[in-house]
Amino acid sequence: MIKQFKLLIEGYASIVANEWIVNSSTCFIETDSSKIIVDPGCNSDLLLQKLFENNIDVNDINFIFITHSHIDHILNFKLFHNAKLLDGYFLYDGDRLVIHNSAIFNDITILQTPGHTNDHCSMIFEFNNIKIAIAGDVFWWSDNEEIKFDTIDLIYREDKFASDFNQLVESRKLLVLNSELIIPGHGKSFPTTKLREKL
Ligand SMILES: [Zn+2]
Repeated sequence: MIKQFKLLIEGYASIVANEWIVNSSTCFIETDSSKIIVDPGCNSDLLLQKLFENNIDVNDINFIFITHSHIDHILNFKLFHNAKLLDGYFLYDGDRLVIHNSAIFNDITILQTPGHTNDHCSMIFEFNNIKIAIAGDVFWWSDNEEIKFDTIDLIYREDKFASDFNQLVESRKLLVLNSELIIPGHGKSFPTTKLREKL
């Protein structure tokens, strides 16, 4: 059972004077047995502030899940001294590394969603009767882009960092078809209902 879910940080991305200012969305999930941070991001001051505001102790976190290996999503993982690191394939505990099956948490599904990167994964779970997908950079855009959430354009929009655009489109469809609310890696969360009808 998912006891708590919080979007701690809404990811952002903008270009200022030829420089990206960027940080991933960061989520907190509490299950019966685990406290999980998904994509701890790279802005450590902001993350520590949000943890404090939400009464979350860094030492209580036992898992960090990363959607993919881009640094703007993972740099802060070392703040969590008691946490094991998890991606879509492996569980890292210090120098120990095991392959996990994707059902490592009860009530959370880990899906392979390649295309932005080859190793990209997403999480899907139900909280307060809403099926939520933490999509990482399957969906992301910069702050100044105008996004029409309920149009099919969202599925086919360009990603200049994509490793395989066709795979990315399939991963986007998979998440839209299997969730009601999507949390992108950078940008505002959006409901999928209207978009799903168009697939
Ligand atoms: Zn990103």
